Amino acid sequence: MTTTLLLLRPDGDARLLLAELARRGTTGTIVARDGAIAVVVSGSVRTAGLPEVADVLVSESGTPRVDEAPDVVTVAGARFGGGVPIWIAGPCAVESPEVTDAIAAQVSAAGASLLRGGAYKPRTSPYAFQGLGPLGLRILRDAADRHGLGVVTEAMSESQVPLVADFADMIQIGSRSMQHFPLLRAAGRTGKPVLLKRGASATVEEWLLAAEYVLEAGSAGVVLCERGIRTFSQPTRYTLDLGSVAWVLEHARLPVVVDPSHAAGRSRLVRRLARAAIAVGAHGVMVEVHEDPGCSASDAPQALTTRAFHELVEEVRTDDFAGSRASA
Ligand code: PEP
Ligand code: MN
Repeated sequence: MTTTLLLLRPDGDARLLLAELARRGTTGTIVARDGAIAVVVSGSVRTAGLPEVADVLVSESGTPRVDEAPDVVTVAGARFGGGVPIWIAGPCAVESPEVTDAIAAQVSAAGASLLRGGAYKPRTSPYAFQGLGPLGLRILRDAADRHGLGVVTEAMSESQVPLVADFADMIQIGSRSMQHFPLLRAAGRTGKPVLLKRGASATVEEWLLAAEYVLEAGSAGVVLCERGIRTFSQPTRYTLDLGSVAWVLEHARLPVVVDPSHAAGRSRLVRRLARAAIAVGAHGVMVEVHEDPGCSASDAPQALTTRAFHELVEEVRTDDFAGSRASA
């Protein structure tokens, strides 16, 4: 759906503009834009005779922020969309300092740029391990710093955002929260880059509109993460929707990464899906890795051993996707 952005003159009065729009039978929302004030109108609007307005931007897609967002998002030195696949790796949940440190050392040596791990875990059961909270954030940050990695970790609620932003280089919005709009805005307001996981039942349009919320609130950049959707297919936990990844790569500017771990739900399938993700053109992969997968505090069946992660990175490095990339 079309969105019209009316940029105000420096001396323009937004209230006068809103009143004029109301006379024309439409409503607008005031937003800050690059240090100026703008009014966003959903749909088209007759723009002749609006003296408060300096400039008009019309977006056919309904996601003007996504349309102009950075196509390279830099996080702790790693450039998503910069041409080299970025690896995000780490445990499902942050565990003890020793376990986290051991995993960080290995994934760093293998070539990962960012350490993942939830300090706040969205669990289906209220009785399952919920994460270590603030202690987990500290453990994750320390391990990442010791091994030259950036940190990406999830905030599940608005109230968690400030603390997560203090410790993380990138804020993760989990699949279950993709349409938690106040959370999207809160994460965006920190100005930090955001890893936006696709909701398991979200359409691509809903996913991009969620990114629009984050960017509109002020995020430095959004990286989309496809992590599998719900379908009738039985053998995997979710269905990795690489078709949508291909579509987004063609139609949206945002970098896209793929999480084969949650999609597959089984470590044995992760390798093939990760390679397929890179072959389709994804800008990176996020995988769950553990020193001793059987002892993972959560999602044990899908964790790669640190050794399997090494092998996977090596395999992708030597995969010849030159043809597919050249034609992309
Ligand atoms: C995660 O990556 O830690 C996670 C909970 O994944 P998702 O939100 O995709 O289920
Ligand atoms: Mn997990």
